[in-house]
Amino acid sequence: MRCSAISWHGCLLSSRHRQQPTATKDKRFDLNHWLSDHGVGVRSEKPYSGGTLYILDQCPFSSAHKDGAFAIQFGNGAVFAGCKHTSCGGGTQRWQELREQFEPDRAAKRKDWEQKQKIYRKDRAKAKIESEGAVDPGPATVPG
Ligand SMILES: [Zn+2]
Repeated sequence: MRCSAISWHGCLLSSRHRQQPTATKDKRFDLNHWLSDHGVGVRSEKPYSGGTLYILDQCPFSSAHKDGAFAIQFGNGAVFAGCKHTSCGGGTQRWQELREQFEPDRAAKRKDWEQKQKIYRKDRAKAKIESEGAVDPGPATVPG
């Protein structure tokens, strides 16, 4: 994209608006790197669905068992993590959770974001009510 110096700021803003915040974020994410970075032990790894499957050394979701936990990075960069144990969801996607265990800052940011969204929605709902005049509930009983 070409931007003139004068419209640089506006250009930056508009390109940011067009960008999907989650679509490109994990594209360059390196699961193998992340695991070793955060001291998550990997027992073994093998090719899986165009990506890599990592068998984790111990279950990050439960202290009751060590086996069964895994993390996958698919060929398209998407990450899936879970544990085969029923008590851990039986292989359901828990990557978000796992990541936030090791990146509390990220969890805090997400909570903060969710809080903002909540406030935003509340404000919107309020604004809607006010603009529609719905504060007047109308007749409480139906005549007749
Ligand atoms: Zn488990």
